[in-house]
Amino acid sequence: MPDTSSPTATRGQTRSEEYFDYAIIGSGFAGLGMAIELKKKGRDNFVILERADDVGGTWRDNSYPGAACDVASHLYSFSFEPNCDWSRVYPSQPELKRYLRGVAEKWGLLAHIRFGHDLQAAHYCERSQRWRLSSSGGSFNVGMLISGSGGLSEPRLPDIAGVEKFAGKHFHSANWDHSYDLRGKRVAVIGSGASAVQFVPEIADLPCQLDVYQRTPNWIIPRHDRLYSAIEKVAFHRIPGLRLALRGKIYCQNEMRVLGMVLHPSLMQLYKRTALRHLRRQVKNPALRQRLIPQYPVGCKRVLISNDWYPALTKANVSLLSDGIAEIREHSIVDAHGIEREVDCVIFGTGFYATENPIARRIHGRGGQTLAQAWRDGEEAYLGTTVHGFPNLMLIVGPNVTLGHSSMVYMIETQVQAISRLLDECEQRHAAEVEVRQPVQAGFNHALQQRLSGSIWSTGCDSWYKHRSGKITQLWPDFTFRFRAMHRQFNAGDYHFAAATDAHIASSVAPRVSRPSAESREWNVSDV
Ligand code: NAP
Repeated sequence: MPDTSSPTATRGQTRSEEYFDYAIIGSGFAGLGMAIELKKKGRDNFVILERADDVGGTWRDNSYPGAACDVASHLYSFSFEPNCDWSRVYPSQPELKRYLRGVAEKWGLLAHIRFGHDLQAAHYCERSQRWRLSSSGGSFNVGMLISGSGGLSEPRLPDIAGVEKFAGKHFHSANWDHSYDLRGKRVAVIGSGASAVQFVPEIADLPCQLDVYQRTPNWIIPRHDRLYSAIEKVAFHRIPGLRLALRGKIYCQNEMRVLGMVLHPSLMQLYKRTALRHLRRQVKNPALRQRLIPQYPVGCKRVLISNDWYPALTKANVSLLSDGIAEIREHSIVDAHGIEREVDCVIFGTGFYATENPIARRIHGRGGQTLAQAWRDGEEAYLGTTVHGFPNLMLIVGPNVTLGHSSMVYMIETQVQAISRLLDECEQRHAAEVEVRQPVQAGFNHALQQRLSGSIWSTGCDSWYKHRSGKITQLWPDFTFRFRAMHRQFNAGDYHFAAATDAHIASSVAPRVSRPSAESREWNVSDV
């Protein structure tokens, strides 16, 4: 970020720290997208810290049977890296992982990645205007810290009494143990969310007993998936407009959902009718069907798509247990009525730390305050990207960027472009430090929360979209093109830019003069 006019001055190794202009955390869609943008702009002096041994983020970790994306492939991919050869409408995890690996190789990113480097702590040094990072693989001193660590990257185990006492085999869906043979075993799955809905049908025939513990049913609609034919793929190659038209069609169809989710929640009744018809067709047993009908409005929690979840639950060896779990013992699970069922293996499909992500405890901004402390009442940032008190920190998929209706890759590309513009601005001003102004962040979030208060997500259900304070801190409550438009209306006055301090000069490059910019702006609900 800071002035890169003399990049070599920040290269190399000093004492035990390596110096870079930029550090990116994570090598999923966000980290790779950011790295490509840096390269496009000639900002080559960057490092990517990756805790695992390969790229791919979510699509590397979630390798459970049946893992796939529920956003269509031709939209769920980088706009600048189209793939005419997607095998099907909804891409599978292996295909997405291959896609991301191919992108990383094509853009020469592997040389920048430090695998096996788990970020342990990041401290902003106000004197040098730089971040000092310690990781499991080494220490770094960087001008700008860009987090692409993922909103759903830290698996969450349930807070059920005795969970730590279970002595049999157990693993989380995001850490699937492929070496464990489920055949003939008594298996319990805890959770019935987006991941469980995908892996339960895949494994249902293997165990002799499969107990699925559902706390809250989900609204589920049909999955209109199919393979793309060879002719279609050739057509996508030969007629680029065709692929673009398909991408545009998928995008517009997804954006239409905002009408029901935010503007007119009553429109979600259409989904309700579809979901109930789907359930009636697939589950004939009225008692089982009744337990699968959610008691909250459609869309309040993520709407799931599946053709094989309900049929899996009707198999003879599968039981849907919906009375709640009282306790987990060494070799069994006890439900709320005291009924105990012995199991050999427990699979946790219990989701992630979307709010209160552990990484927020490791990032220390001005005065040593952690992001977790700044976010004690709920995560917030300016346009999901910058946080007051944390200069030279950029978040990709930060607070209120997640979508309930479309492709996160679109949001990631938007943020990557916005960060790139901010870096340009720093360069033009010869600024060594950039930080969003507090009133701008506060005004933006006030308007954002007002808008969320009328949305489908505020209708009373519990979901991972909410902080424990009840504040919705995960979702973007509008069309994705509005998110992009707001980022494009860049106003330098929203930020404080600072010139390099002597300590910064000593640790990096020669300074030039910078001037704080114009007025900050006021936010109205209509702006969000
Ligand atoms: P999830 O949707 O948050 O589901 C977690 C499940 O665990 C829920 O059924 C939840 O019940 C249950 N649970 C949590 N704590 C529990 C407890 N203490 N006792 C009993 N049950 C408990 O997590 P996920 O299935 O891993 O999916 C997370 C997100 O990842 C999705 O919403 C989606 O955004 C993303 N994802 C996307 C795809 C895709 O195709 N793009 C695929 C998989 C995942 P409650 O509902 O009652 O809380």
